[in-house]
Amino acid sequence: MSARILDGRALARRIEEGLRSEVGLLKDRTGGTPHLVNIVLGDSHGACAYAHSQRRAAEAIGLRYDVLELPGTVTQSELIERIEALNEDPDVHGLMVHKPLPERMDGRAIANRVAIEKDVEGVNVTNVGRMLLGETDIIPCTPAAVMELLRTAEVRLRGADVVIVGASEIVGKPLSLLLLREYATVTVCHVATSEAGRLEGHVARAGILVVAVGKAGLIPGTWIREGTVVIDVGINRVGDRTVGDVDFDGAVARAGAITPVPGGVGPVTVMMLMRNGVTAYRRQALIEEGS
Ligand code: NDP
Repeated sequence: MSARILDGRALARRIEEGLRSEVGLLKDRTGGTPHLVNIVLGDSHGACAYAHSQRRAAEAIGLRYDVLELPGTVTQSELIERIEALNEDPDVHGLMVHKPLPERMDGRAIANRVAIEKDVEGVNVTNVGRMLLGETDIIPCTPAAVMELLRTAEVRLRGADVVIVGASEIVGKPLSLLLLREYATVTVCHVATSEAGRLEGHVARAGILVVAVGKAGLIPGTWIREGTVVIDVGINRVGDRTVGDVDFDGAVARAGAITPVPGGVGPVTVMMLMRNGVTAYRRQALIEEGS
């Protein structure tokens, strides 16, 4: 058996088309243009690559997109001042701060300064809480992309045994909440699962496996049960190749469906950011109209 490939690029193009027409209608209705700003500290290759794909996506759907580059030496209070100025700017509708931040900064304090209505990454503690309660449609982009891939592949979530490997605040934890909301049975594995020698056992009984760790080859194909749906979030550089956390060649022979790396979760994640930007704009513009 060879797995169905879940093509993230094709899905991203379909979402892009929908957003483009939505933005066109919003522009006609409001006379304005949604505007996203990405704050980047210092010069990081990762930040440039990510900003490049965000800019390309924003231009394709008709959003305005700017990168605010700050020197790597910027202090936390200077960064917060810039965030607050953008919060106050009525011409800016979506705001994100590129991670990782320098260790000397308190990432949580910074995330909480991003205005709730402009927080297109869903990282402000209020938006995190609202997501827990199912009270917001601004969902962190990578978990939203995983859900979109599963939804368009028509994977049944209700009652499914989902195993998530990786419990970070931006991927594993929020994803577990979104899956729970769909009545999946969710197991979240992390570093201590591996330390306890239990990772293989959990992976082997997954009907749906999502891996978001950042370690190439962490999951050998032989661990995967026949027919499992595998979503590989990991992005790793190995020599001059980009690979995920799952041994793709081994897994593709056993899985029922699998996302490639690159070309799986990544392109959809960028579109989820754009969707959040459009949602944020719609809310702000309509509030201004008084409707
Ligand atoms: P983090 O480093 O924040 O989190 C990694 C998680 O993996 C932690 O929960 C950690 O456990 C867990 N972990 C580490 N080692 C092991 C192990 N041996 N066994 C089991 N669990 C382990 O990473 P991110 O969530 O930010 O990113 C994860 C990966 O996803 C990276 O490769 C990143 O590049 C990629 N990524 C891809 C995106 C996309 O759009 N495709 C977007 C965002 C990220 P513990 O909590 O116990 O420390």
